[in-house]
Amino acid sequence: MDEYIPGEQPADLDEYIKLNTNENPFPPFESVMKAISQNLNGSLKRYPDSKAVNVREIFAEQNGLKPGNVFVGNGSDEIFTLIFRGFIESSGTAAFPYPSYSLYDTLAQSNGIKYDKINLGTDLKPDLDKFLVKGYDMVIIANPNNPTGTFIEKTKIKEFIKTYKGLLVVDEAYIDFYGGSSIDLVKEFDNVIITRSFSKSYSLAGLRVGLAVANADIIKGLFKLKDSYNVDSLALAGAAAALADTKNFNYNLGMLRSNKEYLEERLSGIGFEIVPSRANFIFTRHPEISPSDLYLKMKERKILVRYFSGPIQSDYVRISIGTMMEIKKTISVIESILEEV
Ligand code: PMP
Repeated sequence: MDEYIPGEQPADLDEYIKLNTNENPFPPFESVMKAISQNLNGSLKRYPDSKAVNVREIFAEQNGLKPGNVFVGNGSDEIFTLIFRGFIESSGTAAFPYPSYSLYDTLAQSNGIKYDKINLGTDLKPDLDKFLVKGYDMVIIANPNNPTGTFIEKTKIKEFIKTYKGLLVVDEAYIDFYGGSSIDLVKEFDNVIITRSFSKSYSLAGLRVGLAVANADIIKGLFKLKDSYNVDSLALAGAAAALADTKNFNYNLGMLRSNKEYLEERLSGIGFEIVPSRANFIFTRHPEISPSDLYLKMKERKILVRYFSGPIQSDYVRISIGTMMEIKKTISVIESILEEV
């Protein structure tokens, strides 16, 4: 099987501007740090709440759902692991778009599940009709998609699910940046799971918290499959505080969006083609330099961006949105690289 290859985490990380794993450049909210440090006490000798009641209640309340519709995972990656482990027969067939989040491939392979990868269209968006032709048992769509940043409207997903009879998983790891969630579909359809992540919009990639939202039977199934104490008590405390702090959440998202728009404007000004993105990263290329060269030359100058080999995706580099200082430095480095070619 293919291993999942995460973006590089160099040992001398502090020497780099790290724009290769779509982390949020801003620190976790003060309220989150406080909640975590308040839980750094003797109560760590106890097991965490295996049902993650507090986080589920807060999220359900904020989204007009019941806690029974919400599951908390050790990052959304754990939720995909559980879905592949328990929600598709080994004789079943899954499908996902290509290029997309390659962990889906790894998990399908590790569970011995056959799958098809269906190329994105020329607009780098999935054509959902193509997922209807074969009667797939499970379809996973990342929305916005990684690495392209492209987004499909809820109306399109709803059209699809009206016909599709298998299990649809919509991976909304990046949805918070520009909105447009399909979460309400779980109220109408019992074959949809929406996943969310605290790693990007909440600046908590290191804490490992993700959510699944679905009808109560699916959530019960996820509970059966998980490790007893899958999310630790510091992560639960941090996640609850993060959800509650809507003021800092919105502020963080606003900064991120304005930094992204600045980066897009500056890069298009020097000839980059940028795929329209609704995430905290851009997928981009320049007519005068190959993406692999650009990636390597940036790395030599201590800026890490992501380059993926393979059809379609090797035509681009993916750049995560950094702080304004990181962006300005990145632009000046790119300008100097372009002057050399
Ligand atoms: N889905 C997508 C599309 C992603 O890009 C990522 C981040 N690599 C994840 C899920 C994983 O998120 P988490 O940190 O919550 O496991």
